[in-house]
Amino acid sequence: MSSNDSLSRSRKPFRDGKVHVCRAMCSTCIFRPGNLMHLEEGRFEQMVRDAKKKESCIVCHETLDGKQAVCRGFFERHATQPLQIAERLGYIEWQ
Ligand code: SF4
Repeated sequence: MSSNDSLSRSRKPFRDGKVHVCRAMCSTCIFRPGNLMHLEEGRFEQMVRDAKKKESCIVCHETLDGKQAVCRGFFERHATQPLQIAERLGYIEWQ
């Protein structure tokens, strides 16, 4: 398999030269009030801390099994440097 093949088959939020981000917060977004995904106490805060520390992102759970996208709630509140740069350069693809 060539590296081009593996790139085009990637399901990660960064693929095909774009960072894919959820067009809207899903109805069960972890950034909505009320712990709609029933996360263990402290888990949400840990996920945010980890993603920020790694200059990464939180992937939308609705997209984990398919073509993945960055959680819209995370993008709006905690866009890490790579996400900010991608947005400035026009490399965001809304999904
Ligand atoms: S978190 Fe979404 S936009 Fe947030 S996460 Fe989950 S399904 Fe979605």
